[in-house]
Parts: sequence; structure tokens; C-alpha cells
Amino acid sequence: MPRVIVVGGGWAGCAAAWAARQAGAEVILLERTDMLLGTGLVGGIIRNNGRYTAAEELVALGAGRLLELTDRVARHKNIDFAGHRHATLYDVTRIEPLVRITLVNAGIKLRLKSRVRKVRVIGERIKAVETEEGEEIPGDAFIDATGTAGPPANCRRYGFGCVMCIYRCPTFGGRLSLCALAGVEEYAALRRSGGLGALSGSCKLKKASLAPYLVQILEKEGVVCLPLPSHLKGKKEHLYRKACQQYALEEYVDNLILLDTGPVKLMTPFLPLDDLRQIRGLENACYEDPYAGGIGNSVRFLAMVPREDTMRVKALENVFCAGEKAGPLVGHTEAIVTGTLAGHNAVRFLAGQELLSLPLSLAVGDFITFSREQVECGEGLYRSFTFSGSVYWERMQRLGLYTIDFWNVWKKVEEVGLLGVFAQKIL
Ligand SMILES: Cc1cc2nc3c(=O)[nH]c(=O)nc-3n(C[C@H](O)[C@H](O)[C@H](O)COP(=O)(O)OP(=O)(O)OC[C@H]3O[C@@H](n4cnc5c(N)ncnc54)[C@H](O)[C@@H]3O)c2cc1C
Repeated sequence: MPRVIVVGGGWAGCAAAWAARQAGAEVILLERTDMLLGTGLVGGIIRNNGRYTAAEELVALGAGRLLELTDRVARHKNIDFAGHRHATLYDVTRIEPLVRITLVNAGIKLRLKSRVRKVRVIGERIKAVETEEGEEIPGDAFIDATGTAGPPANCRRYGFGCVMCIYRCPTFGGRLSLCALAGVEEYAALRRSGGLGALSGSCKLKKASLAPYLVQILEKEGVVCLPLPSHLKGKKEHLYRKACQQYALEEYVDNLILLDTGPVKLMTPFLPLDDLRQIRGLENACYEDPYAGGIGNSVRFLAMVPREDTMRVKALENVFCAGEKAGPLVGHTEAIVTGTLAGHNAVRFLAGQELLSLPLSLAVGDFITFSREQVECGEGLYRSFTFSGSVYWERMQRLGLYTIDFWNVWKKVEEVGLLGVFAQKIL
């Protein structure tokens, strides 16, 4: 059976592995650390704003399985907070084992603590990858889902040094990009103020370190908005440095927004611990991710690759990319969308079939094409793209692509003849 090798087990890699397996390939998923989901282990917000439409489109296209898992471990559904409608918050402590068992039960060969550090390339094709232990694993098609966070040298150069984030580079070795190992030139996001990359936009606090009354509200409502003391108000700089521009709103300048994702999600890139502890209810607050969240956050979007709308990497014939690797695309849903298409097309490629591009009448198709075009014309290097905010969310609404009407989504997918396409066997 033809073999697809997926490198990187974040949301993008998991979705790619799932889609390639659904389409009938043998799939090996290699992940550097001892857990799947990468930055998805410290996120949790899904189905907010246009992500709802994208999620329902995926379901209609036959790739709803991973979203179904996030729904199953949701702590809160249909909540609203500044700039966000109908969000679901999944429990970041419960999702990983569920995804892991689901992938293994589907027959995906999962290899954790397997950091790819070399590739064998012949012509424009990768033939095999080599892990840290020196094992060579041959494959027929490959997916680069290695993300863009770190490694520590980047966090030192463009951020605040290693802040000990969920990537755990000192323990497992830094991120290494499959495409870069194969000689593809990567590009980085640009900051309007100068410099490269973007700071991750949120932290986690230990729930037990908050005042009990705050925990009670959080667990009931899912969200708490705490006004900042006057001397901490009005500091905008940090908001414009973040990866998630959807949170660069006035509400986030003068308030601290907390969400219940299991641990408490703090919607700011970082805040000195002494400042944090001046806020009522947070007198004993402790960071859980990154451990040095009082100093800074991880730096991302320094390692993206040019790609087609089919998710194929431009410079390589048998390599596809997904998630943050595929452009300044922020979010779990965005990673699942691009991962699914990459995994599916890897199998179409192996079967000698025409690769699939998603139509522009669907939000997922328009998103993939629009973000690529924006990057190619240069403007996209200063932006990030997400269904949930900023430039793409505005576009989605303007073009009438946003809907929370389930039947409307199914009708649109049916009209383009793609109902259940990702669930069909190709091999
Ligand atoms: C703190 C934080 C909070 C966030 N919160 C949210 C949120 O609430 N909602 C939301 O939608 N988005 C959120 N995001 C963004 C979202 O997590 C990401 O955009 C998305 O999940 C990226 O997925 P990915 O698979 O492309 O990359 P990653 O999650 O970075 O995964 C890449 C994986 O590749 C592995 N890897 C790297 N190199 C190698 C190698 N050589 N060999 C093997 N494996 C390798 C890494 O270990 C990692 O597991 C958040 C991001 C951060 C950092």
C-alpha cells in the first residue's frame, strides 16, 4: 500500500494523517515530542465567528471527526466575549488522549519522540526521512506539518528568549522543518514596526492560583472580564505584536479576559507577574504556559513555505504542507482545514488523480486561495489569516460566506458536488 509520511503531530498533522488514512493510504505520523497537538495543547477556542462556518463545511465535506472530538470535550459552548460570537472552549487537558486513541484505532502508525532531522531527496521528490535516532523511513508522499514556533534561537533573536512553552524544545530538540531540510527556501512574517515573526497571543494560568470566586464564575460562564488597574491600562504595543490580530481590540487594552479551557486562558501575550498580581482575584496567580509568561511568549511564523491551493509545496512534487507551515494561518480550525486537504491530496497524488482545490464559494476554499494570494503579493506577510478575526473574518462577512445555518452549508457543499468527498476511499 502506498505510504504517506506526516511530519509534525499538531492539529494540522493529525488532520492530514486522518484524511490520508480515510482516503486509503498507509500513514505514519512522526511527532517530535511525547504528545500530539502541538500548540493545540494550550489553545482551546474553536467555532468562534467564521470558524463555525468552516467547521460545518468540513463536516459536510466528510472530515468532521476531529471537530467532533473537540465538541465532545467542550467545557463551554456558544459563549460570547469581546470580538467573539458563539465560541466553544474545548478542554485542553482532555483532548490529546482522545485524538491519540482515535488516530491509532483508525490504523495510523503513530511515532512519538521521533524528531525528523534529515531527508533523502532525489530530483524534486523526497524519498525518505531520518529520525534523531538515525532510522530511515521511506515514503511515497510527505506532509510538512512542523509548524512555525521556535526553536529557541528564534525566540532569543525575535522575542524574549526561551520562555519554556509547550513546545519544550530544550527537552525534545527544536522544531525542524521537513521542507527546509529538503532545501526549500522558507519565508517569515514581517512586523510593521520592523523585525520578523509574531508573538503567541495568550498564556495559561493555573486555575488553583486564582481566587475561588473567580474560578466559580469562570466554570459557570466560561469567561470573565477583569478591568485593569488604571496604571496598567492603555498599553497597546503588545497587542500589535501578537499572532492573533483578532484580539487586537480596545477591550483587550483595558481589560484582562480570562477563559475556562481547563487551565485558565489569559488573553494577552504576556504580563509581568507583579502586574498580574495587582488585579483583584489574581493576587496569587501562577503561569502554567509558558512557564515564563511574566517575561514573554514564544515567537511563531518564521518558517512558512510557498504552496499551491492544493497544499502542494511549490518546489517539491510529492510534498504537501499544512497549518502554520502553509502561511500565516492562525488557529486550530485553520490547521484542520489545510491538514485535511493536504492529507487527501497526498493520496490523490499517489493514485495519479487530479489534485483537489476547494471552490471559492466555500469559506474554506476562499480562505486557502485568498491567504496564498495575499502572501504572494507581499501584503500578506504583514497579516495573519483566520476565520475568526481581522482581515479574513471581515472578508468572509462581506462576501456572504459566513453562516451558522447548517442546512445552508450542506446545500452549498452539495451544489459543488463535494458532499463527503474527504470520507471517500481513493486507493
Ligand atoms: C499559546 C497559544 C494559544 C493558542 N490558542 C488558540 C486558540 O485558542 N484557538 C485557535 O484556534 N488557535 C489557537 N492558537 C493557534 C493554533 O494553536 C495554531 O495556529 C495551530 O494549532 C497550529 O497547528 P500546526 O499543526 O500547524 O502547528 P503546531 O501546533 O506548531 O504543531 C507542529 C508540530 O510539529 C512538531 N514538529 C516540529 N518539528 C518536527 C520534526 N522535525 N519532527 C517531528 N515533529 C516535529 C511539533 O512538535 C508540533 O507538535 C494558539 C497558539 C498558541 C501558541
